[in-house]
Amino acid sequence: MRILVLGGTTEATRLAGRLAVRGDIWACLSLAGRTREPAPQALRTRIGGFGGVPGLIDYLNDEAIDLLVDATHPFAAQISRNALQAGRAVGIPVLRYTRAPWTAVAGDRWTTVGSLEQAALAIGEAPRRVLLTVGRLGLSAFDAAPQHHYLIRTIDPPEGVTLPDHKLILERGPFETDGEIRLMQREAVDVVVTKNSGGLATYGKIAAARSLGLPVILVEPPQDGNLPVFHDLDLLMGAVDAHDAVLVAERGV
Ligand code: NAP
Repeated sequence: MRILVLGGTTEATRLAGRLAVRGDIWACLSLAGRTREPAPQALRTRIGGFGGVPGLIDYLNDEAIDLLVDATHPFAAQISRNALQAGRAVGIPVLRYTRAPWTAVAGDRWTTVGSLEQAALAIGEAPRRVLLTVGRLGLSAFDAAPQHHYLIRTIDPPEGVTLPDHKLILERGPFETDGEIRLMQREAVDVVVTKNSGGLATYGKIAAARSLGLPVILVEPPQDGNLPVFHDLDLLMGAVDAHDAVLVAERGV
């Protein structure tokens, strides 16, 4: 069986590790090429966009791919839409492997919204001190709410930030709760604005806000289309093996 994994996440890296030791499976990991120094991977890797749905269809056909696993970030909506369309066009299954979103627990003060634009509105009229961790490409949505002080944290430096009152921290997770509490106290943060990305690496700010009684404005991930979604690697590998069995039965090999 030949598998293409769309990656760029820790989940995809973990899946690559599992596939790399399978002598019966040929697999390739695809990265968008956004990160300057991508983490080393156990699988063969290709880097860069495919050229939209037509380019992805060509790749799937040229490489005779039997199964597409979309293990991209919950907020990488375009590539997930493309994967679904291209998989359907070529007639191969598409499985989604992604981390589960966070769910509120007692003490959380969350406002959930559907977009960054709605998040900017939800901060309110009165000036507030905002910890903003939505990724460097999402910052322009907050130009609509310039009255706030923004403490912006990104991994790579954002380009052309036009928010009049902001401070930038360049840092890569994971972030522990204690450190997040200290940051929020030191910077007198009174609201956290972030994406519901799930996973443990960036959960510290959610736990910190809860422990300080601070509100969190959380952008929910886009809905996955009508396709099987796995949050657990063993269950995903079970589905991979089931598809392999179907192919073996069909091809008699
Ligand atoms: P996106 O908006 O969904 O995709 C934009 C374009 O980037 C796609 O149309 C595709 O170009 C290319 N692309 C994206 N992922 C690719 C992959 N794995 N392999 C080859 N091409 C890919 O994606 P994004 O939000 O910019 O994210 C880019 C990558 O960073 C993703 O792989 C994602 O897993 C990772 N990431 C994203 C976030 C986030 O918050 N969005 C956070 C952490 C990591 P073509 O149309 O030319 O094929």
